[in-house]
Amino acid sequence: MAVPPILRLAIPSPLRRYFDYLPPAKTPYQQLQPGIRLQVPFGRRTLIGILVTIASQSEIETSKLRRAQYCLDKTPVVPNSLLQLLTWAASYYHHSPGEVFFSALPQLLRQGKPATSPIYRRWLLSSKDCTTDATILSRAPRQQQLVELLRYHPEGLTSSQIKAQLGTYQSSLRSLIAKGWVYSQEKPIYKSIPPSKEHLRHPLNDAQKAAVTTILAFQQKFRPFLLEGVTGSGKTEVYLRAIEEIIAKSRQALVLIPEIGLTPQMVERFHRYLQTPITVLHSALSDRERLAAWLAAYEGKTPVVIGTRSAVWAPLPRLGIIIIDEEHDSSFKQQEGFHYHARDLAIMRAYQTKIPIILGSATPSLESLDNVKRQRYHLLQLLQRAGVAQTPRIQLLDVRSRPLEFGLSPPLLAALRYHLGQGNQALLFLNRRGFAPTLICHECGFAVPCHRCDAYMTVHQHTNRLRCHHCGAEGPLPTSCPQCRNLLLRPRGLGTEQVEAGLKHFFPEIEIARVDRDTTRRAGTLNKMLDGIHNGKYRLLIGTQMLAKGHHYPNITLAGILDADQGLFGSDFRAGEHMSQLILQVIGRTGRGNKPGEVLIQTHHPEHPLLTALVGHGYRHVAEILLEERRQIGFPPYGYLALLRARAVSPDSPMKFLETARSMATAHNPHGVTLLGPVPAPMERRAGRYRAQLLLQGSARAPLQRLLTAWIPTLERLQAARKVRWSLDVDPIDLM
Ligand code: ADP
Ligand code: ZN
Repeated sequence: MAVPPILRLAIPSPLRRYFDYLPPAKTPYQQLQPGIRLQVPFGRRTLIGILVTIASQSEIETSKLRRAQYCLDKTPVVPNSLLQLLTWAASYYHHSPGEVFFSALPQLLRQGKPATSPIYRRWLLSSKDCTTDATILSRAPRQQQLVELLRYHPEGLTSSQIKAQLGTYQSSLRSLIAKGWVYSQEKPIYKSIPPSKEHLRHPLNDAQKAAVTTILAFQQKFRPFLLEGVTGSGKTEVYLRAIEEIIAKSRQALVLIPEIGLTPQMVERFHRYLQTPITVLHSALSDRERLAAWLAAYEGKTPVVIGTRSAVWAPLPRLGIIIIDEEHDSSFKQQEGFHYHARDLAIMRAYQTKIPIILGSATPSLESLDNVKRQRYHLLQLLQRAGVAQTPRIQLLDVRSRPLEFGLSPPLLAALRYHLGQGNQALLFLNRRGFAPTLICHECGFAVPCHRCDAYMTVHQHTNRLRCHHCGAEGPLPTSCPQCRNLLLRPRGLGTEQVEAGLKHFFPEIEIARVDRDTTRRAGTLNKMLDGIHNGKYRLLIGTQMLAKGHHYPNITLAGILDADQGLFGSDFRAGEHMSQLILQVIGRTGRGNKPGEVLIQTHHPEHPLLTALVGHGYRHVAEILLEERRQIGFPPYGYLALLRARAVSPDSPMKFLETARSMATAHNPHGVTLLGPVPAPMERRAGRYRAQLLLQGSARAPLQRLLTAWIPTLERLQAARKVRWSLDVDPIDLM
């Protein structure tokens, strides 16, 4: 008798391993293709797993293996190329394969729903009804309501939109369909081809031409390119040309961008330029929409997928190029659950698929710069701004012992008056929302803390509340000091809300847009604000990093950075890198049209080497300083890190667990890996949990990976592990 094949499955369990099963009874073997889903018994439950490989033997005796119940799919829901990437990711990040696989799949596929595109219908009024007198329906008020609703939406509404407005509506809808007053149309999930507009093609400048030619010379090979160019140098134009060429050969393009909400213009530009259906993957999609988008990409209905970090998992069987815009952006790192870096995974995906990948940035990450030095990445530079835009003039403003009103120094105020007087727009940047980061008692010095975190509460004057920016705790503004009962409680420090109040005071006649997470919480408000900035309604802009990213506003001629010192003394090892990148992004917002721009940077440390390097010599010079610092401490890119974190309600458990973990790691005799800690996290208590961490620093990837492979699975079985929540972060972007 032939030995039955063994099915090796990824199953959504936290355990870091695959699970073996026997094939379901009476299943033709050719149906057992890697990438299909199966329902299996798991403990006392039944779960859905994904077939990863078919093996000829198992560590478990065949007689003890359980049998899978049935196959959910006739053809794979996970294409081969993606299977390969997911398998690699689970082993590199030492995360449970089941959780890795399931985090990549749309929710409906995880739940076992069929892999068929949900039909998107929208309902429309037929022209016949538009002339019908609605009084005919006077005895059917529900139908009448529905007709009225549809009349206001000539483009039609989906069932869920109707339901949201009217509640139950099905029987009325049926009656109206029977009367021939309402009909339906299928609505594609992707952006269908836009009406042909005058093409937005520019003749490429020499640097752009050279970049496009070099990239396209490597269409069938793995080749990472770092496309370095300041904002406005024409990087997007290079992406578009390269993509155009690739999709003309019926291949697909994947574009990862930091945050879609912040860059609606970018998606629109791709759409109009490429004249092709585009799938946009973002967090606001419903489950059905996400499944439809996944299938549209998988079935090749859309040659281009644009999305944020999780789009790195998009199933693209004919993938021909990957673009990562703003490759340095930390939003590509998933910080919860399965910690992965979408940029690094995209590189691996390009390697496995043998295709080119373009990493674009004005301020490349230190890792990417180092990869250029080691000739792993090919550098392409766009040194000039495309078109007519000029590089702005940058100046440090020493604000020591100068009076600051609402955070504004007299020279910055004067510059604001000048630029606004010229009819231009000005942007102020402060990476702190709220009114003030602390509320302090003028009598005894008491600062109001968060009860769940080692942090102070932020004052939000607009809502008259205190809020913790770390755990979300909220409370009313106290009227007297909780410690000494004095009434003199004062906000201390500066937040965007306060700057906005100041600007209203100084420029009462000018419309101000404050762009931060507080003002853009409601769906649609950000887009409205961005439109208002675009059409010139708002001339003064104050915002956090949300405002620094990606937008193109030709009329901004002045940018003010209110507090450059915030990043200089940040406690984390990437603080300096991030601050420099942010400042340069803000600089990139100015003078993008044909008017010259000016940038003023307020600081108490005008002689700080990072700031003087930034202003005097630009980002590359700053990067050299930072790289040298990293080299001295053996941090990335000169060393490789992994961080084991633990948290618990009880103060001692995390440290105890990590100490045990450390001694187990030492027992593995980790040659080439240094263990640092455990130590309490920089903010030890957060949201009521005590946190601690153990840092592993490897001289190279290999010894670190070897240790993790041997050591991490043993932690799952530790007694001390039951008292904590723990997680491993390979290549952490911060140690907070
Ligand atoms: P980046 O992506 O580097 O910020 P973009 O590609 O968005 O730069 O280009 C900035 C602006 O310059 C855009 O308005 C774009 O249409 C324009 N542009 C790009 N390339 C050229 C070119 N070769 N000639 C003229 N204008 C260009
Ligand atoms: Zn808190």
